[in-house]
Amino acid sequence: MIDIHCHILPSVDDGAKHMTESIEMARAAFQQGITTIVATPHHNDGKYDNKREEILEKVQELNGRLKKEDIDVTILPGQECRISGELIEQYDKNEVLTLNNTGKYIFLELPSSQVPLYTEKLIYDLQMKGLVPIIVHPERNAELIETPDKLYQLVKKGACTQITAASVAGKFGKKIKKFSLDLIEANLTHFVASDAHNLQNRTFLMDEAYRIIEKEFGSDIKFMFMENAELLVEGQTVMKEIPERIKKKKLFGMFK
Ligand code: FE
Repeated sequence: MIDIHCHILPSVDDGAKHMTESIEMARAAFQQGITTIVATPHHNDGKYDNKREEILEKVQELNGRLKKEDIDVTILPGQECRISGELIEQYDKNEVLTLNNTGKYIFLELPSSQVPLYTEKLIYDLQMKGLVPIIVHPERNAELIETPDKLYQLVKKGACTQITAASVAGKFGKKIKKFSLDLIEANLTHFVASDAHNLQNRTFLMDEAYRIIEKEFGSDIKFMFMENAELLVEGQTVMKEIPERIKKKKLFGMFK
């Protein structure tokens, strides 16, 4: 299993505090069947800055340690970019790192409460650069929960999205779990990842999420998500179904 979103690099953001914690996280990941992890430290979020070159170096260092510890998990480089008006400029300056450095997929983090007005234009501009933007954890964005049509429009215009395993497992509450499942049903999401920060309150839960997805939607959908993670790290085109609008009836059900 591949986990494409994880804060496993030591002491770079609010994820693993030190190398020992990174090693423990890798060990726990391996135990639930994860053999490849894309390390995606926060970047440009007002608190943390992790530029491309620094991440590439730190990933190499962590892989060296995991080898010494005999843990069969490979770390690949990635980055979680906070959306900003300067993102294209930063990309041109080589500060932005695509997932597994393939030059294709880029993680975009929205502020948790809203969707900035320039999001649609940025998504267009990134695609003009030959990139595929992936909106991370849309299921935890307050504006998208209220107005899922906004996400539908962004996906229709070429954005991919990634939901969090813990959201599917219900760890962020019933409303977010329901919205996550609605996103899967409406073909509005293309990846499931852990966004793990530690082993206490923000852990992997990938096995649990996939179990739930298989139970709710069948094994084909589960394998589509798993295969998309593989295609992503190889820099290949992922599978996408035609996006649909989330039916209103379902939304009302969410607030019962
Ligand atoms: Fe994250």
